[in-house]
Amino acid sequence: MLGQDYQIRMKLKVLFLILTLNMSLITSAESFGIVVHGGAGVLSGLSIERQQEIENKVKDTLISAYKILEDGGSSMDAVEFAVSEFEDSTLFNAGKGSVYNSDEVQEMDASIMNGADRSAGAVASVQIIKNPIKLARKVLEETDHVLLVGRGAEIFAKDIEETIVDRSYFHSEKNLKRLKKAKKRISDNNIIEDKIGTVGAVALDKNGNIAAATSTGGMTNKMPGRVGDTPIIGSGTWAQNDVCGVSSTGHGEFFIKYQVAKEVCTRIEYLNETLEKASSDIIKELLKIDARGGIIAIDKNANTSMPFNTDGMIRGSFTNKSELYVAIY
Ligand code: ASP
Repeated sequence: MLGQDYQIRMKLKVLFLILTLNMSLITSAESFGIVVHGGAGVLSGLSIERQQEIENKVKDTLISAYKILEDGGSSMDAVEFAVSEFEDSTLFNAGKGSVYNSDEVQEMDASIMNGADRSAGAVASVQIIKNPIKLARKVLEETDHVLLVGRGAEIFAKDIEETIVDRSYFHSEKNLKRLKKAKKRISDNNIIEDKIGTVGAVALDKNGNIAAATSTGGMTNKMPGRVGDTPIIGSGTWAQNDVCGVSSTGHGEFFIKYQVAKEVCTRIEYLNETLEKASSDIIKELLKIDARGGIIAIDKNANTSMPFNTDGMIRGSFTNKSELYVAIY
């Protein structure tokens, strides 16, 4: 009798184990989604029309990127798509909308990371690449390096026939005015004043792969050759399967010193914190040292978080667990 009881108990245990395993496979396989940002700063002066234009662009981009994921596409494709859409728009400080250095030249940075194997690619201080994020992905896929800068990055782009444009493609009277205003200001914290921001995207695909991508023209009035957090893996961009993906925006020097993007994932991995706690805590901590900005993040279950310590952050998310969401303030 005892033997029979034991056998039944064992069978039930095995059944239970199979069920839990299947459940967890189903949940993780079914979770997918994307989060994007279009920069953090003082956005309160935006006209209603401008706000609407931005919100529409974010919405359309999210819908298309979500479709990539829904159709079984990779998180790498989804984030590259979203960021390149923003780069092609003058609404954001990346690609075509990039802000100016102090010498009236536009220099751009971008990075992308694949959480499946921690492969990463980045470019910095590029001036003639139509889509810096696409070149960053080529650095990941076609070189043994992670980060190429300036002339070298541009030579590589020509070699692989990445789209090159004339510098005039990026010219913007609005951004030149912005530079002149920034030069007049006796403030070193011009990110707070900027109404145009860096862009980023993080996504989780149906295969459980997390990817993150970020692109920027940097900060208005930056020194020529200055590189911020955006192309620095661990600061502006981080992706780690089974943990999280993060893209940052804000005063880059602080985001480098505090390794913000990786720090969020580290807290989740080692302290067992939730995505929400890890990401909002670090943004609060940054505020204490007057480091302004925000992050977007997604975890392996498609939970999302978008904290910021500025007046606003252009942001949006769309997952299979939550409705399409877009906000600025
Ligand atoms: N993080 C960017 C940089 O420091 C600027 C921004 O996000 O607005 O270059």
